[in-house]
Amino acid sequence: MANLKNKMKNKTYDFLVLGAGGTGLAAAMYAARLGLKTLVLGYTSSTELPIGGVITTTHVVENYPGFTTISGPDLAKNIEEHTRSYKLVTIKGEKATEIKKLKNCFHVKTNKSDYMTKTVLFATGTRWKKLEVPGSSEFENKGISYCALCDGPLFRNKVVSVVGGSDSAAKDALLLTEYAKKVYIIYRSEEIHPEPINMERVKKNKKIEIINNTNVMGINGKEFVESVLLDKKYKGSNELKLDGVFVAIGHVVLSDLAKPLRVRLNSKGEIKINHMTSETNIPGIFAAGDVTDKPFKQLITGVADGCTAAYSAYEYITKKKL
Ligand SMILES: Cc1cc2nc3c(=O)[nH]c(=O)nc-3n(C[C@H](O)[C@H](O)[C@H](O)COP(=O)(O)OP(=O)(O)OC[C@H]3O[C@@H](n4cnc5c(N)ncnc54)[C@H](O)[C@@H]3O)c2cc1C
Repeated sequence: MANLKNKMKNKTYDFLVLGAGGTGLAAAMYAARLGLKTLVLGYTSSTELPIGGVITTTHVVENYPGFTTISGPDLAKNIEEHTRSYKLVTIKGEKATEIKKLKNCFHVKTNKSDYMTKTVLFATGTRWKKLEVPGSSEFENKGISYCALCDGPLFRNKVVSVVGGSDSAAKDALLLTEYAKKVYIIYRSEEIHPEPINMERVKKNKKIEIINNTNVMGINGKEFVESVLLDKKYKGSNELKLDGVFVAIGHVVLSDLAKPLRVRLNSKGEIKINHMTSETNIPGIFAAGDVTDKPFKQLITGVADGCTAAYSAYEYITKKKL
């Protein structure tokens, strides 16, 4: 233990944030303002989200105070730059792989190094749920995409579908009308459920056609996607010809690293937190943003809970005289 502490001298932090999405970055900023030496682990690669997290995948944000309208990547860049302006914050492109609780601190291993920290914040968010039907793996990046903002321009004058009924699905469909000549929204239940303002926009957009009460059962093509198989006939056929499928059917919560620490999760795998303080059931471990059991998941709610977590971590460190 003494050896480990010695070895880790320059790698010891007050507050270690897992995830460099909006939540983690905002938490780090607040922690630095409270004088905490802070490390943010924000893993990026061609298959992972960039720094800024999932908000970078949306073309327009209209509900973040201070910006009437701003693109997700621009908003994320502003938050990142703001966070980087604090000298007490270090952001590293590393993926946390294991966390161990020691007596009064935590040992965090990554794909490149390892660190000691007095407190940990889970701001790991979620990843896209895959469409698990025949053809979905085969045609990923060959017509199947999980990011309309990233891949939409590849479908200029093509026919595409968005699978899903959430606000994100509706926003994806609206964005895709900028490029595609036709956009179907295929949704398994009675009616899609975006924010009312986006519902209005979808209804008014002549390029969008909604196919409700229908599931995609398979994806067909030769080299690239050519059609989807529906479980119900649409306009007389179970086969819908198209060139692209954008999947927006929800998310898987990235809370696996919390399990060995006995952090309490709900049945969806979300980290249960005290909604006033962002504390988990394990002292010194906090969580905020999309990874938690807060029901309303938006950038602003994640940012707010991230700041609360930073303050709670500060109080924890101060009270325990760590
Ligand atoms: C299409 C779309 C449109 C949206 N539009 C809006 C909008 O208009 N307004 C709004 O307020 N909200 C919007 N949202 C919701 C908003 O984007 C999220 O609620 C918010 O960005 C979540 O932030 P987060 O930091 O909690 O998670 P994320 O942004 O998902 O960040 C988590 C980060 O943690 C990283 N990570 C995970 N595991 C590890 C690990 N082991 N080690 C290191 N890093 C790890 C991930 O790679 C990721 O970068 C939208 C979401 C989507 C998908």
